[in-house]
Amino acid sequence: MKPVNSVAAVALAILIGVGTGHSGTDDLSQERFRAIYKELVETNTTLSAGDCTLAAQRMAARLKAAGYRDEDLRVFVPEGHPKEGGLIAVLAGSDSSAKAILMLAHVDVVEAKREDWTRDPFTLIEEDGYFYGRGTSDMKAQAAIWVDNMIRYREEGFKPKRTIKLALTCGEETNAALNGAGWLAKNERAAIDAEFALTEGVDGVLDAQGDKIALDVLAAEKTSQNFGFEATNAGGHSSRPVANNAIYHLIRAVDKVSHYEFPVQLDDANRAYFTGMSRLVGGEAGAAMLAVVKNPEDSAAVAVLDKNTDWHAMLRTTCVATMLSAGHATNALPQRARANINCRIFPGVSRDAILAQLVKIVDDPAIAVTIPEVRGPVATPSP
Ligand SMILES: [Zn+2]
Repeated sequence: MKPVNSVAAVALAILIGVGTGHSGTDDLSQERFRAIYKELVETNTTLSAGDCTLAAQRMAARLKAAGYRDEDLRVFVPEGHPKEGGLIAVLAGSDSSAKAILMLAHVDVVEAKREDWTRDPFTLIEEDGYFYGRGTSDMKAQAAIWVDNMIRYREEGFKPKRTIKLALTCGEETNAALNGAGWLAKNERAAIDAEFALTEGVDGVLDAQGDKIALDVLAAEKTSQNFGFEATNAGGHSSRPVANNAIYHLIRAVDKVSHYEFPVQLDDANRAYFTGMSRLVGGEAGAAMLAVVKNPEDSAAVAVLDKNTDWHAMLRTTCVATMLSAGHATNALPQRARANINCRIFPGVSRDAILAQLVKIVDDPAIAVTIPEVRGPVATPSP
């Protein structure tokens, strides 16, 4: 689950040539890309009501129409998960000793409630050079680009040296779902084995005039981890309130998290990023980047970078409340109050260290702080 921010949206608009008028491709191929993109966005792939297998079948049909043979194309459906399938496709390379390149994209999306959206989340809408719809940025644009690439390669008779593989998977956005990429790695390793893989994770940067400044490359990743806060209480009738109230305990705990900032941490990745970006960005922000790299405790410089949500997140572990549930009746004292705190942990830092820090921040024995589920390894820093 990644934030869809304006930077990403603008970068996306440029990437697919909206309103730029100089994309270097003809109208027909733009129309075709757009049709793939639209079909993906308009195929609901949420865990609750969607169907990744259907999205995979639709993309498979397009590849087949472009000339891919049945042996180069496979919709896979993990047993017991009929709607959480995906697609593998292959364009054979000319050098059998060269390892493949994998183009990987998840096609599932985060839940989207119609009442929370101004526009229908499952209709691709274009307004003023922006695309709106669930998954337009994360990451159906990229998935559509991969599919469109595969079709183009076939059309142009392109013979790559390395075999090019495509994998569209489900289950990236929801912890409880089957992780499709993980399932492939475990059960279909040969089908996706590659020298390297290309997937989502980074954006580009534009300046205030919309000119391109940088295209990011992912060098390190944070660990996404949920923590549970829970207060329980004997309860009682609302006509006889007491101070020891599960909701009040929980609200105070969540409020403490809202006021807490984890300390700035530097590793090879963010040090190199801020050093390089300081030259491109310049001005006050550029100077602040250099100052923070030199001294991570320079609070004035940190405050300048913290105004940018991306930079703020790149400097430290962050934790934020994302869900609440409490109480069982309007006229009863709550017996249970729960919050989900989603943390993005700085590379190399353990989950237990963050758990201990949260317990310390909350400082209330009435709140149980737990790790409800562990998914995947702790992200380690890249040298
Ligand atoms: Zn994503």
